[in-house]
Amino acid sequence: MADYVKMWKDLGMDLESHDNLCQVLPTAVGDVFLTQENRPKAMEFWDLVISEVHGIRPAELIEEQKKGRKVFGTFCVFVPDEIIVALNGIVTGLCGGSQFWVPGGEAVLPKNTCPLIKASVGARLGRTCPFFRIADVYVGETTCDGKKKAYEILGEDVPMIIMDVPQMKRQKDIEKWKDEIADFAKKAEEITGNTLSVEKLKEAINIINEKRKAMKRVYDARKSLTLPISGRDTLLMTQISFFDDPVRCAEMCNKLADELEERIKNGVSVVKEGTKRILVTGTPLAVPNWKLHNIIETSGAAVVCEEMCTGTRYFENLVDGSADTLDGLFMALSERYMKNNCACFTPNPGRIEDIIRLAREYKADGVIDCSLKFCGLYDIEKKNVSEALKKEGIPVLSLETDYEDSDSGQLRTRIEAFVEMLNS
Ligand code: SF4
Ligand code: SF4
Repeated sequence: MADYVKMWKDLGMDLESHDNLCQVLPTAVGDVFLTQENRPKAMEFWDLVISEVHGIRPAELIEEQKKGRKVFGTFCVFVPDEIIVALNGIVTGLCGGSQFWVPGGEAVLPKNTCPLIKASVGARLGRTCPFFRIADVYVGETTCDGKKKAYEILGEDVPMIIMDVPQMKRQKDIEKWKDEIADFAKKAEEITGNTLSVEKLKEAINIINEKRKAMKRVYDARKSLTLPISGRDTLLMTQISFFDDPVRCAEMCNKLADELEERIKNGVSVVKEGTKRILVTGTPLAVPNWKLHNIIETSGAAVVCEEMCTGTRYFENLVDGSADTLDGLFMALSERYMKNNCACFTPNPGRIEDIIRLAREYKADGVIDCSLKFCGLYDIEKKNVSEALKKEGIPVLSLETDYEDSDSGQLRTRIEAFVEMLNS
């Protein structure tokens, strides 16, 4: 591994604490990913990125900053990457998925806040995540109450832009989100020092659409009964896509998709015939949160699809880049992003329709609906999800968890029982 200590020091990171984090990660990567058999060769790229997750990409970002580019740290799939890319900015995801950061978040937030928020705040305040240190500006959004209030803490010493996400999906809400995107573009122009043009925005829409199409190709391969890739590997690919350069991301995903399509043709599967196929839905799984997938896939089942923001919501629906005015393109962006069926919307029938549609497309035998502890939005929505799936005759298991390992045994017992039920 290259020596990144000087870079971390220059970023003002807490090196001692960061060392402790660095010690845990390789074991987790080894246990979750490297123990799998018959993995696609193209996964070597993501193995390398995750093995040096705090080194390779942060070093690239710093090099780009030296050339005058600005890094925008984001926390939600509602933030339109296209605007940032069109202004020659760089997008990086900032959500925290490790228990390591939770105590730091709990020092300033109520304990009954969801672990994703606590970990994100802990990563920033504890100075143990280079991405949080590198970002020139954070972009928050008004999706859930916990995030809204946490942004007030996170924004104390970093410039923070908050985007006001509508909570309903009427035509006036889509227009409101379009105006919000236009306001965001103005702020992003000030930060980058660049001016948005129709051409640049169309180009950026194309770049992000290509990334979406490439990710979709990987996911589409999972629809085959000859399952060419595990859920764990696909999740890793998706998680890293939030941090990577979009053009390289598309290139690597297309390379992986080529291999997966070849595998299907040759009948190469990562699981035995008849292995039960699970669709996972619920709260996002930020890196390095691999707990649920790891338990499912070591309990005799395979994850074939994720209806979540670290899943289909990130790449489904392309932006129509045909308009010839900025206003027209902002509207096209709004229409695409407002198709995201986050539980922050009320009512939210679109998510249930998506789960049922995806369960059929991916030939899932059952659905696991898992939310992070203290996430009221997704937890409350479980009732409607579960009732709708039962009506469709799709078995469903509702779970709640956090980033700790303490409930792993209990989760495994429930998941094994669910898989056994599917098998019988
Ligand atoms: S679950 Fe909702 S709030 Fe969270 S990343 Fe997705 S859209 Fe944003
Ligand atoms: S998991 Fe739920 S509570 Fe946590 S940030 Fe996402 S929407 Fe908010």
